[in-house]
Amino acid sequence: MNTISPVFGECQLNVVKPKEPVVGRVVDSTPCLKGRSASYVRHIAIDISGTPLAGSFRAGQSFGVIPPGLNEKGKPHSVRLYSISAPTWGEDGDGNVVSTTCKRLIDEYWEEGSDEHHLFVGLCSNYLCDLKVGDEVLVTGPAGKRFLLPQDPSHHDYVFVATGTGIAPFRGMAKELLENPEGPCQSEIHLVVGVPYGTDLMYDAWFSEMADAHPNFHYHTVISRPELGRRMYVDQYIVETTDPFHRVLASERTLLYICGIEGMQNGIYRLLESLGVADEYLQLPDGSPSLAEADKATIKRIKPSDRCMVEVY
Ligand SMILES: Cc1cc2nc3c(=O)[nH]c(=O)nc-3n(C[C@H](O)[C@H](O)[C@H](O)COP(=O)(O)OP(=O)(O)OC[C@H]3O[C@@H](n4cnc5c(N)ncnc54)[C@H](O)[C@@H]3O)c2cc1C
Repeated sequence: MNTISPVFGECQLNVVKPKEPVVGRVVDSTPCLKGRSASYVRHIAIDISGTPLAGSFRAGQSFGVIPPGLNEKGKPHSVRLYSISAPTWGEDGDGNVVSTTCKRLIDEYWEEGSDEHHLFVGLCSNYLCDLKVGDEVLVTGPAGKRFLLPQDPSHHDYVFVATGTGIAPFRGMAKELLENPEGPCQSEIHLVVGVPYGTDLMYDAWFSEMADAHPNFHYHTVISRPELGRRMYVDQYIVETTDPFHRVLASERTLLYICGIEGMQNGIYRLLESLGVADEYLQLPDGSPSLAEADKATIKRIKPSDRCMVEVY
């Protein structure tokens, strides 16, 4: 295959370091799930104007949040990263408002050897989701230098695969590609979103609107626990949806982006192998067995190629 190598250009990193965070102000905090769900996810926008962070980030990067208070060692809490869900020009058009898609981490756990159960409430995600418009928040960043759009987006087509809040960078990238002030990008763009229930879809109305308005933008939703019908996961969906995915993934123009739940990349790596295109998107370790049979340790050694961007957490 005569692949077109992507050129990503420069990006800035850590212009605001965790030791010296700057103060941002929340300007929006809105639930962004499609319906009632067992999860709580909010779109949160933060004004960073007047700080070195303003205008420093690109779509696909992350920013850091430092929750207030001290940890058990009496030190400030460590920074948590959140993917930017805005385009490079921010929510405001001038790079002064950054945004993310934050899911509250809430869980139950049992003490070993005991029937007693406790509620585990993630520190930073719940702090961020509790903030009100007008509240101050300590922010850092930007972080991440690989999960970027190419400098000239028209040279490529795109397959974006998201699970859960992995949708965040794709909202920013889709805005960058489709709402560009110089006109929408005409490349073929496929967004594949996997969630447990239909009500867990994020920004669903906006993505549907974009798909209606732009014939080159295709919004695929994959539900893993439907009330009726078959369970489906993103990798399975791509394998079974022969048209267009087999053609698009075999094209030398295509870039593949994967973002979301740690482990989701394994199924996608296997599907690339099953379609005979693993060498295009992955650097396989020498002498590695077929990925269908490979153990977790072997899959962990696989590095994406410059046509595959992976951000999992
Ligand atoms: C590059 C990157 C981008 C990210 N982007 C996003 C994003 O866009 N949106 C988003 O919501 N998140 C995102 N995250 C995750 C985010 O950084 C935080 O990890 C997440 O919000 C949880 O932080 P927390 O402070 O609420 O939880 P913490 O208080 O830090 O708790 C999490 C820790 O608690 C442990 N834990 C989990 N459940 C339990 C339990 N039941 N009992 C005991 N311990 C438990 C886990 O092992 C984990 O280490 C991203 C992470 C990375 C690395």
